[in-house]
Amino acid sequence: MKVLKHIFICGLCLFTASCGNDWLNMEPSTSIKNEDGYQQIGDIEYALNGIYNIMQNAYAYSGRLVYYGDVTGDDMQAVSSTKRTGSYYLFAYTKDNAPSTHWSYLYSIIGQCNYILADVDRLVDAEKNKESFDENKPVWDDWKGQALALRGMALFDLTRIFGYPYKKDNGASLGVPIIKQVLAIQDKPARGTVAECYAQIIADLEDGTTLLAGDFNKGKINKWAALTLLSRVYLYKGDDAKALEKAEAAIGGAENEKYALWTNAEYPTAWSNDASSSKPGEVLFEIVNTNTDGAGNESMGYLSSSDGYDDLCITSSFYALLLQDPNDVRLKLLSFDGTKYAYVFKYQPQDGENIEDANIPLIRLSEAYLNAAEAAQKLVDNDKAVKFLDPIVKRANPAKTVTGQQITHERILTERRKELVCEGHRMYDALRDGGKATRSDVANNKIKSTKHLSGTYEKEYDWDWYKVVLPIPKAEIDTNPNIKQNPDY
Ligand code: CA
Repeated sequence: MKVLKHIFICGLCLFTASCGNDWLNMEPSTSIKNEDGYQQIGDIEYALNGIYNIMQNAYAYSGRLVYYGDVTGDDMQAVSSTKRTGSYYLFAYTKDNAPSTHWSYLYSIIGQCNYILADVDRLVDAEKNKESFDENKPVWDDWKGQALALRGMALFDLTRIFGYPYKKDNGASLGVPIIKQVLAIQDKPARGTVAECYAQIIADLEDGTTLLAGDFNKGKINKWAALTLLSRVYLYKGDDAKALEKAEAAIGGAENEKYALWTNAEYPTAWSNDASSSKPGEVLFEIVNTNTDGAGNESMGYLSSSDGYDDLCITSSFYALLLQDPNDVRLKLLSFDGTKYAYVFKYQPQDGENIEDANIPLIRLSEAYLNAAEAAQKLVDNDKAVKFLDPIVKRANPAKTVTGQQITHERILTERRKELVCEGHRMYDALRDGGKATRSDVANNKIKSTKHLSGTYEKEYDWDWYKVVLPIPKAEIDTNPNIKQNPDY
């Protein structure tokens, strides 16, 4: 796996000096794929492992793609302006110096998925003609489902990073290029609208969830993770009935498969569990890092710890929010650096590992509950909103309940902030329904030094501020005349 990863990383290095859409054409591996594509069904599994290797990179899902959504919001911040989270937190980038990695890593994932999807049906048909064919072998469906779901996930992240929230203009503004086939080097794809991107994301996740297996599959996306992600996509889009349907399907299916919300007692340390099929816990999809195959010191584990690079900490206003209930179990995840800063210890190393080897939970069962509660509230189904919000509220503090209460959107969004902090959600959640991110300082003796850093950015912003979407990378603008830059950059 290590060797394969280095092939990928070398390929990505070419990106900045490329003269076309190399980010879409990067060859998976010369050893297993020739010019006619993959040659045998087993190559597909190998190719999928290559995709998970790209995702594992600290510039992808072990780090930057996660913390970007947190430090651009109001619940977390860069510890100082010179930290690697600093330019995102301060929105201190221009169309000429903004990073290209969000674009390049996500499009390499899409490109690799396209190679698989171009060949998988042909290879399965070939297997079916063999005498040894076992019709009870569902694993091929699962592989194709993984490729579809990961392509949908990558396009969703591209769309929410480079395109405005769907509800701002019903998806009329520009998203990103929608790439469904292996492209030729001379192809110069234009950006689709956000609505067109959502249609493709939903198609991939719907198709993927019908093919994916529901079994625990360590470090791989399964049916329940993909359904939870799909419910999130429908929430962002405003299709609340579908959001509720998919979240309920995820919860019911996952719990049948022995997944379960962590208990109050388990919560502070469950993040370090090495999940297994006998005890899958509540993480539905995670990046697995180990001390022999990890993402290094740029990964969330090292960045979000005072024993590591201490890059990102919670804001004083978020600390005040959590302290609304001094018995909230989520306070136990905070670690303090004297009286300066508080860090979120969700990226806990597994047994025998160092902090940089911590796994990265990307999709949790808790989110499915929060998605279901939010969708139900929007559908004016208070009973269901209570049903799905209450387990999260009670788990945080068994003395609390929302039973008998009228649940508001604000109540659910507040619970979502508290539950999903440091997992890459906040900026999108703050803005996607037309709300604001508000950066304010709240005096507190326990984190005296935590104040918002000075810089030329807005203290309060919504989806009308041009910087809530990243500029299209310069390398792409310079080589593809069909790509339009985002407004005001
Ligand atoms: Ca680990």
